[in-house]
Amino acid sequence: MLYRINRKAACWCGSGKSYQECHAGFDKKLQEMKRKGYLIPKHKLIKNEKQLAGIRESGKINIAVLDYVSEHVRPGITTEEIDRLVYEKTKQLGGIPAPLNYEGFPKSVCVSINNEVCHGIPCQERVLEEGDIANIDVSTIYKGYFSDSSRMFCIGQVSDERRALVEAAKNAVMAGLSQVKPWWTLGDMGAAVNAYAQAAGYSVVYAVGGHGVGLQFHEEPYVSYVTDPDTEMVMAPGMVFTIEPMINAGAPDVWIDDDNGWTIYTEDDSDSAQWEVTVAVTDNEKGYEILAY
Ligand SMILES: [Zn+2]
Repeated sequence: MLYRINRKAACWCGSGKSYQECHAGFDKKLQEMKRKGYLIPKHKLIKNEKQLAGIRESGKINIAVLDYVSEHVRPGITTEEIDRLVYEKTKQLGGIPAPLNYEGFPKSVCVSINNEVCHGIPCQERVLEEGDIANIDVSTIYKGYFSDSSRMFCIGQVSDERRALVEAAKNAVMAGLSQVKPWWTLGDMGAAVNAYAQAAGYSVVYAVGGHGVGLQFHEEPYVSYVTDPDTEMVMAPGMVFTIEPMINAGAPDVWIDDDNGWTIYTEDDSDSAQWEVTVAVTDNEKGYEILAY
């Protein structure tokens, strides 16, 4: 169907600017990439300045909550106590923990220890012990905007092997970030993550990945970290998504706990580590802004 866009009319992004001044050039570039065969994002995945500001504020709470938790994590703390710390700090800062009651998830945070890959559910009985490595994954809703990030914690003295895995998982995120540039692809980012992890002697979980985030907890696209360069969705300015590769010391295969329906473990019982950032694609030279870490 032929149609004409009124270039003086308001832009679809909701900025209030005219289409001509706002996303006309963006759409031209997007269509150009589509013609070349690239998968392009729908307009609804492109955040305007106001929405980015909202996600940024949400991210500030997420960062503050993780900072707060890091002051309290020590050998002997139960995951239930961590859950309470996250809930109370998030509320105090005006936010809502996004995981709480999300598709039936019973707690405010995920705490995943050693061979747990992700979605560990806090409880009274689980205690962080000297030598453990734990991922604490926090997500916040603030004024309707969502942010999501996680960090690894070494509990007391941990083995060199575990410390190296934790470091490599962080570096894998950095490797991915170095490939976040406007009009590059998510495949470029994922390939960098995978290459880093493999070179370090680890494997990247392929069964679970990251996601778009911002106006909802989980948005399109699905973000894999086991990809080929120049594949997957184009990273257009205004997209917001997570980089959160799960790095296994052993094989990349995982299984899900049927009893609770959430917790994912490594198939071979090896250790797993994960760091997560929420990132926005920008049209400046750096190419991205970290909104939560
Ligand atoms: Zn616009």
